[in-house]
Amino acid sequence: MKVIDIIKAEKPSLSFEVFPPKTFQSMESVLRATDEIAELGPDFMSVTYGAGGSTAAFTAEIAEHIQDVYGIPALAHLTCVSSSKDKIAGVLTDLQSRGIENVLALRGDVPEGLDVGSIDYRHASDLIPAIRAHGEFCIGGACYPEKHPESVSISEDLRNLGMKVGSGCDFLTTQMFFDNNILYNFLYRAKDAGINVPVVAGIMPVTNAVQIRRIMAISGSMLPPRFIRIVERYGDDPEAMLQAGTVYATEQIIDLYANGIRAVHVYTMNRPEVARRILHNLSAIIR
Ligand code: FAD
Repeated sequence: MKVIDIIKAEKPSLSFEVFPPKTFQSMESVLRATDEIAELGPDFMSVTYGAGGSTAAFTAEIAEHIQDVYGIPALAHLTCVSSSKDKIAGVLTDLQSRGIENVLALRGDVPEGLDVGSIDYRHASDLIPAIRAHGEFCIGGACYPEKHPESVSISEDLRNLGMKVGSGCDFLTTQMFFDNNILYNFLYRAKDAGINVPVVAGIMPVTNAVQIRRIMAISGSMLPPRFIRIVERYGDDPEAMLQAGTVYATEQIIDLYANGIRAVHVYTMNRPEVARRILHNLSAIIR
């Protein structure tokens, strides 16, 4: 099933994310976490792509496992900046042979020292037409309610996002945000900029203080004072932070659904307990 049909449906959708292992030795534990998350019955599951494509086969294998064992549609992430046209074509052919029909097309972070003059794909908007030409995929792209860190302004980022959507992307998934007003403002501005594909809201349940410091460094996400106080108070107590982080994420999700957002994606990060708690908190809201 195509992700676009799930997120366009009247029924609110909830999807979860897993990431592949770095080495084959860890595959078993990642599959165990994947199984526990899949057993909760999300509307679809995404599988991230290791930086540079070093773990591409694991992404494809986990996505296939999710579909074959649980009948849950899988969305395979794919980054392009470090890959040749041949490598990308090979990954797409592999995904097709495994029955994967949903791809999240990404540039990926640019590795230090990469000679951008010699690469095949500079942006996700270069990758998307290549995926479209390769086969019948439903294609998603990333968007950044607080702008991508490399963009000088939200307006510039939105112009580039317009090009990405124009290159053939069916839907967008957002970077994490911790204040829903940021998403609502972004959606107004995106609509104004002529971006009219469905947007899936990405929610990150923060369950420890180290994780939030890393997130801030990478994404530049704005943290509301209410959230900072929770992390300061409970960040070093794993049980308390798990409880507070999943409740905070649940509140965000309930507010999103209440305001008409139909598709929410939770960055569950191979943590079944996080997915389980959020689903439990939403039991009467998502039936
Ligand atoms: P792009 O769309 O290429 O944008 C990057 C920058 O270039 C932005 O500043 C943008 O404004 C600008 N830009 C875009 N198009 C153009 C254009 N045509 N001309 C000029 N400028 C342009 N990383 C991984 O390694 N693996 C993953 O699985 C993964 N999953 C992700 C999932 C989501 C939902 C998100 C939000 C991010 C994910 N990332 C992942 C991180 C992502 O790879 C990085 O944020 C990366 O730096 C940008 O990727 P992009 O596809 O958004 O790039």
